[in-house]
Amino acid sequence: MMAMAPPARAAIKVVATTEDLAALVQEVGGDRVQVEALARGYQDPHFVEPKPSFILKLHGADLLVVVGRELEIGWLPPLITQARNSRIQQSGDRYLDASLTAHILEIPTGEITRAMGDVHPLGNPHYWLSPDNGRLIARAIQKKLSEIAPTDAAYFAQRYADFDRRLADAEKRWTAAMAPYKGLKVVTYHRSWPNFTDGFGLDVIGYVEPKPGIPPSPSHTLELIQEMKRQQVKIIIMEPYFDSKTPDAIARDTGARVIVLAPSVGGQKEATDYFKLFEYDVNTLITAIKETGAK
Ligand SMILES: [Zn+2]
Repeated sequence: MMAMAPPARAAIKVVATTEDLAALVQEVGGDRVQVEALARGYQDPHFVEPKPSFILKLHGADLLVVVGRELEIGWLPPLITQARNSRIQQSGDRYLDASLTAHILEIPTGEITRAMGDVHPLGNPHYWLSPDNGRLIARAIQKKLSEIAPTDAAYFAQRYADFDRRLADAEKRWTAAMAPYKGLKVVTYHRSWPNFTDGFGLDVIGYVEPKPGIPPSPSHTLELIQEMKRQQVKIIIMEPYFDSKTPDAIARDTGARVIVLAPSVGGQKEATDYFKLFEYDVNTLITAIKETGAK
């Protein structure tokens, strides 16, 4: 006898603060979730303009997934309060902080002062840009979804296993493509890329921002230019949401090239899911390295 199709049930309504988290929820949740992202991947995730529609989404959410490490502190807390949904409050059982099980870099040691910059007080919050962390985030999502819908636990486990396998294959490809450029020196605008650059063996020798969240200053820019000339750095990696004036000026002075990568899913139009995010960044980077003769 043929198995009957299971009765249709309502999908779990998930709100994710970023498109990266939404993409990972989709990977694991399949057709048992209905997921929406608040911030768009081309926006600075530290500074997102809150919209009334966000409150409505949060009000109806069965689960809220956040990046954490204070990435959303400038915009999310009042929205959560106004959503009047007790379970998605930070203390609630439907609030998932994806950073809690991820590998976090640049965790400050010793006394934390404002002089260190404003926006990364609890370690680097841009941690989703390594396949390893993609796995850890997806695993946390799998656990949480299974808790919410225990009858679908096997489905989520199977989706996670499939994601893990496809990611391992893709990662092999990306690592092989990047292997010739191990140790390549680059500069980045914001500290958005440490998991990505560590993962692929790039050496970040400086930042356009003097400190995370602090805009470029003439004295810092001058020092950076001298350092780039000394170390012959030819690549400046930039996010899509910063003013290119300073990086362009640095590039003119040093003969480097500014490339805009996708820091998130949706950060460039080609980066439509978690896999295409890496695909885009790796390919764009390699093309620029070849064209500038950086290696
Ligand atoms: Zn940041």
